[in-house]
Formats: sequence, C-alpha cells, structure tokens
Amino acid sequence: NADAAMYLAKSSGRNSYKFYTADLNARAREILAIESQLRFALERDEFVLHYQPLVDMHSGRVVGAEALIRWQHPNLGLIGPAGFIQVAEERGFIVQIGNWVIREACRQLAEWLARGLPAVKVSVNLSALQFRQQELSTVIEDALAEHGLSGDCLDVEVTETVVMEDAEATLAAIERIKGMGLSLSVDDFGTGYSSLSYLKRFKADKIKIDRSFVRDIPGDSDDAAITRAIINMAKFLNMKVVAEGVETREQWDFLAGEGCDLVQGFLVAKPMPAADFAARYGKTPRVELAELGL
Ligand code: C2E
Ligand code: MG
Ligand code: MG
Ligand code: MG
Repeated sequence: NADAAMYLAKSSGRNSYKFYTADLNARAREILAIESQLRFALERDEFVLHYQPLVDMHSGRVVGAEALIRWQHPNLGLIGPAGFIQVAEERGFIVQIGNWVIREACRQLAEWLARGLPAVKVSVNLSALQFRQQELSTVIEDALAEHGLSGDCLDVEVTETVVMEDAEATLAAIERIKGMGLSLSVDDFGTGYSSLSYLKRFKADKIKIDRSFVRDIPGDSDDAAITRAIINMAKFLNMKVVAEGVETREQWDFLAGEGCDLVQGFLVAKPMPAADFAARYGKTPRVELAELGL
C-alpha cells in the first residue's frame, strides 16, 4: 500500500544517502591527495606518454600512434588517465599538462625520425579547456618548430562534447590548427551529443567509434547497427573511421566486412612505452595479420 511504499522509499533513500556521503568523503579525500601531488607532477617530470598503434585493416600498416598519458607516481606506481585527468580538468592543471603532452609527443616523434624510424602520425588528446586558452595554436606551432616537424605529423583528438560546448570559439581554434596542417579526429564518437551539421562544419578527418559500441559486436544487434551506421556516415562525409577497443577476431571480421578503415585495440597491441613501440614497429611499421590469427 501507499504507506508501505513511502516507508520503503524513505528508508532506501536514507540508506543511499548514507552510502552517497561515505562515497563522497572518500572521493573528496582522494581528490585532495591527487590534487596536492598533481600540482608538482609536471615539474617533477612524472608524466610519461605511452603509444598505441592505429592499424590499417587492409594492409596491416601502422599508420599512427595515439599518445596516452600516464603518471609515474613515486609511491603509487603508474596511474592511468582515469585516475587524474578529471581532477586536472577541475583544477585547471590540464592546460599545462596538455601543453606538455603536445611538446613531448613532438619531441618523441622527432627522436624517432632522427633515428631513421618510419614516420607515423602521432595523435594527441586535447581537452575542452585547452581550446579556451588563446594560445593553443601557438603552443602547437612552437612545439612543431622546436623539433623541426611539419603540421601533418600530428593529429588532434577531440570529443564531440568539446566542440559542442563552445562551438564558435572551438571551431575557430580548430580552423587554425587545421590550417597548420594537422588532422582532426572526433574521439569517443556516439557517446556525446553532437549535431551532424557541426561534424560537417569542423571537417574532421577521422571519426573514432567509441569502445562501448565495439565491445559487444557482432553479437549485440543494436551495437552492430550503430557501428554500421557510423561507418556508413563517415564514408558519406569522406572521413576515415577508426574502431576503438578491438579485442577479438570476431569484432575485427565484422568491422572489416562493414568497410571500417582503421582499428585500435588490444587485439593488435596495448598502449606501450615509446621504447617498446620503436622496438616493435620501428623496422617494419606493420602488423602481420596472420600473427593475430587474421
Ligand atoms: P581515449 O582517447 O578514447 O583513448 C583510448 C583508451 O582506450 C585508452 O585508455 C586505451 O588504453 C584504451 N583502449 C585501447 N584499446 C583498448 C581495448 O582493446 N580494450 C580496452 N578495454 N581498452 C582499450 P587510457 O590510456 O586509459 O586513456 C583513457 C582516456 O584518458 C582517453 O580515452 C582520453 O580520453 C584520456 N587521455 C589519455 N591521455 C590523455 C591526454 O594526454 N590528455 C587528455 N586530455 N586526455 C587524455
Ligand atoms: Mg583518444
Ligand atoms: Mg576514445
Ligand atoms: Mg575516452
């Protein structure tokens, strides 16, 4: 009856409130701890970039490397971006960290090229706040110039949400970046809210299908349909399409059958330190599909 229902609602409400505050306190403490140390992580040189290959499905060629940040914490070991990027964004550290990522990716690529390694395009992830700083394009320009690189060595990955948040300013920044020869990828596509007209306006070169859609293909018919639709849309818009998070042969086969261009995922390789990336792909920048069982 109504009273019993009300009682249940109240008691479960109170319980969940208690859990919520406990969680919140734990989360607050965690944020404080991370925040106080994150502040010094840059000057202590504790960040590293790992690299994950982007592979052309048809040829097996490694056409790119996504640079993914990790924090080498003195006590806690290697911390992935899930453990600190959000805090860095909330506290405004992300701009400096993101600028470091751009410079470090350029430095690494120049080092590889100087050692005669074949050129791969390096992708860096940019957060929304980096687009709000006036000097983003200058930071990129200086980093490229310092290492003697041209703009087409770099690709920037932004999520749909970044573009939608402050569309006009972001579009202007993207235009400047593209004018320098960089390519643009829309990351985590399908998880944010985007309008197809913006997608067209900012002329992305690549769309990266979010891992959450790839995970359950081909078995999940909804995800299969969404994946197929994104691939077809990308084709019509003349954009390359990348499937993120490809872990199985079945996912690969489905994507290949649907005409997906590029894949990134544990099936090919996990993100790895720069030295490992060079050792593995430096001589022959390709993946033997037969070795993957393909
Ligand atoms: P993202 O840009 O979508 O990067 C792909 C993420 O998927 C990476 O996680 C990668 O390790 C993971 N991944 C790739 N293939 C597979 C797979 O087959 N299976 C599974 N389970 N995961 C796979 P990671 O390195 O933990 O990065 C997470 C997110 O953190 C990135 O998602 C990106 O949004 C953010 N991030 C990473 N580096 C930076 C950075 O330098 N700056 C900013 N602003 N964000 C970054
Ligand atoms: Mg990315
Ligand atoms: Mg992604
Ligand atoms: Mg992501």
